[in-house]
Parts: sequence; structure tokens; C-alpha cells
Amino acid sequence: MVVGVVGGGQLGRMLALAGIPLGHSFRFLDPDPLCPASAVGEVIVGAYDDHSAVARFVAGIDVATFEFENVPVATMSAIAERVPTAPSARSLETAQDRISEKEFFRSCGIRVQPFEAVNTEAELAAACGRIGFPAVLKSRRLGYDGKGQCVVRSPHDLTAAWAAVHGAPAIYEAFVDFTAEISVIAVRSRDGDVRIWAINQNEHRAGILWRTISPAPAVNDAVRIAAEHAVRAAMDALGHVGVLTIEFFVTTDGLVANEMAPRVHNSGHWTIDGAVTSQFENHVRAVTDEPLGSTDARGVSGMVNIISIMPDREDILSVPGARLHDYGKSPRPGRKLAHVNVCAGDERIRDAQMRVLEDLVRRATQDVPAERDQAVGNA
Ligand code: AMP
Repeated sequence: MVVGVVGGGQLGRMLALAGIPLGHSFRFLDPDPLCPASAVGEVIVGAYDDHSAVARFVAGIDVATFEFENVPVATMSAIAERVPTAPSARSLETAQDRISEKEFFRSCGIRVQPFEAVNTEAELAAACGRIGFPAVLKSRRLGYDGKGQCVVRSPHDLTAAWAAVHGAPAIYEAFVDFTAEISVIAVRSRDGDVRIWAINQNEHRAGILWRTISPAPAVNDAVRIAAEHAVRAAMDALGHVGVLTIEFFVTTDGLVANEMAPRVHNSGHWTIDGAVTSQFENHVRAVTDEPLGSTDARGVSGMVNIISIMPDREDILSVPGARLHDYGKSPRPGRKLAHVNVCAGDERIRDAQMRVLEDLVRRATQDVPAERDQAVGNA
């Protein structure tokens, strides 16, 4: 089949790298002719709302998907009128707006922190009165990797916080005192088969994912079952087809959902080397309506993101067991350039490999602060 992917970033590239061995070929819609996916398929160059580019993209593809959630819903709906498209516009729309996402979680019985929508600085002040401090102000739409958000610790921070979200419609949410951050990644087929990978434990720096280990040490059976139940409930409620990720805070009082992504996720990159079927391959299988593969882990896994600057490749490749996935991007502060996976028979070896890799990455990037708004990170 010819699989059309809206977006040609590294996620699109890795979808193709997983789908080509199954006999598929890939076409991407992206404004950048040299996007990371250009190495693995044809790129239709155009903006995501450019009707003529969308028409050229859709002519000749058999199925369509997207690789990031800020694609206009109207574009995906127009594509869905021509070819089978997954995930649906409903999944996309729900995840594009932090308020509708949290309301959706609540409707599925998934716990979220107290939150309120704010549209003006006066509404922000009123929300602070009800929810209190500390809290986080985030733009409702178009936020990713901690961009467009900041911590509000006292009434003195309000004006600066409102400026940080550029006065755009926002969400004011209580700061969660978490012991760990985890994500659960699952895939659902058109006939409702759901498979779930081992849970990921994630550490962020300046709001950007820095490392993931899986299975998550902070997760006991009860927490794992709760997270798996939540992702199943969310997928079934949406009639979702493809991969869906939910990020949670682990607290002493149970799980609190932070956000969801209706797509393959950075915290699941380890599945390329550490699972029987990767998140990318299973997403392609779901979109092309083929049976899903096993999500069983091959061992214990870890992933380190390479952001801003590429360390010496020879150093990375010399670490026993290290699997480098380079997206072919030019370096820029805050930009995800590559990731390195390890998969070992036990935690001791995996942790030793991770330490060496993290040192290499830290040494290369120590002088380069991430380019973003006021960091939330693990504040
Ligand atoms: P997000 O863009 O919502 O994924 O936020 C990026 C990161 O900021 C999260 O992974 C957390 O580390 C942190 N963060 C976001 N919202 C909150 C919150 N309400 N309480 C505590 N930390 C948060």
C-alpha cells in the first residue's frame, strides 16, 4: 500500500522505516522538502492547510495518517473523505485542546488535576483564587515539549505568566506534586483489538523528554493496571485506530493524567529495539488494517534523547549495545536530533549503558540551554 503521512518529521521517518519492510511505500505532506522523512519517501511540499498540496498528497495514496497533533482537523477530515484515515478527526480534535482533553479524561473516569479555562488576565486572577498556587498556566492549543507554559507561584507571577502564553486562550491547572512521570502507549486496530507496551518512566529537562526507561520502576501492578485500564477506556471511547499515548503523573495518591497524544510518542522510541513489534510498525499495521503484532518486551529498555547538539557519533556507537537513531536534522537549540536505545537482559546492565550514554550526551550539550519559554520541567 501507499501510506500517506501528514508531517515529515522524525516520527514520520520512523513510521516509514518500520513500514517499508512490510512492503508499503510512503508519501509525506510537509512544508520542508528536506524534512527528516524525505530520506524514506516522497514529500509533497506544502503547508498543512494548502488545498492544492493536500489534493496532490491524497491522489494515489491508499490510506492516511498523521505524525503530529497540530495538523488542522479540516485537513484530516478532507483527506478522510478520499481515503481510509486513522486516527480519526475526533481523536485529533480532542487532543489538540488541553481543556477538551481533560474533559474527555474525566468523561472516561480518568483522574485529572483541578483546572480551569482562562481567556483573559482577569479570568486568570479568578482561576488563581479558586485553584490556588503553585499552578501551571499553559496555552490551550499548539503547545509541545513544554512550550507555551509557565509555573505560577504567587499573585506576583500573573502578569508575566499571561505574557508567557502571549495572551492566548489558556488552561490554569494545579501543580502536581509527583513522584514520577510515566506514559502508557497502546495501539488499537479497526476491529477493536488493543495491545499495550510495557509502561515508560520518563524524565524531562526544561519540559523536554530527556530519558525513558521501561518497564517503569515507579509502577507496581496496581498502578500498571490502572494505567492500562485508562488507555483502553480512552481508546474505546474515541473508537481510536492507531497508537495513542497517555502521560500520567504518579503521586502518593494514585495516577493523575497530564495529556494524551493520538500518535506514536517519543517515550515509545525504545520499542524499535526493545519490543517484538515497535510502536511504529503497529501504528502502520493498524492504519493499513492488518493484524497487530506482539507488544512484548525483549528485555529491559532505555532511551536517551539527543537534543540541540550531536555528540561524537563514534563515542555513541562504541557503547556496547547502543542503537543510534539519527534523524538527519541540522542542530538547533532545543531541537530533538536523535535518540539512543539500549535493551538489556537486566536493569544493572541497562542502567550502566544508560549512565555512559547520558554522560556523553551531557558533555556535548552542557553549554546549550534549551530554547523555550519559562521552563516547567520538574520544578
Ligand atoms: P506538558 O507539555 O503538559 O507535557 O508539560 C511538560 C512537562 O512539564 C511535564 O512532563 C512535567 O514535567 C511538567 N508539568 C506540566 N504540567 C505540570 C503540572 N500541572 N504539575 C507539575 N508538573 C507539570
